[in-house]
Amino acid sequence: MAEGTRPLPVPTPETRHFWEGTSAGELRLQRCDDCRHTYFPPRPFCPKCASRKVSWFRASGRGVLWSYVIHHRPAPGFQAPYSIAVVKLEEGPQLMTNIVGCAQTPEALQLDMQVEVTFSPISDQITLPLFKPAEAQS
Ligand SMILES: [Zn+2]
Repeated sequence: MAEGTRPLPVPTPETRHFWEGTSAGELRLQRCDDCRHTYFPPRPFCPKCASRKVSWFRASGRGVLWSYVIHHRPAPGFQAPYSIAVVKLEEGPQLMTNIVGCAQTPEALQLDMQVEVTFSPISDQITLPLFKPAEAQS
């Protein structure tokens, strides 16, 4: 683990289910019961049609690397170099995260590569969803 403490998210009533999910090893998203739109981050209404009939479900945890930057300067709680990435989930939403389990280089971090979620407990309350290269991909 890197030294220092990274800034941690604080669960709110809107995000509590999400953080309970990551602690349980599940990536949870919300889907609109009216228009079927799947979205992230969590909010109590559909960002597309404003319906309040929304449900939580367990996402597959799979996605593709959509975009990233590699940071070479150390930051609290991070060991440089490290990636800050946007993963586009199989279900549609995009999630800001870190890619782990591979070299933090442009050669290893290929856009559109398949990634899958891995859970990193940071504190009693917070387990971060990070992503690693998916196994058994051609
Ligand atoms: Zn909707």
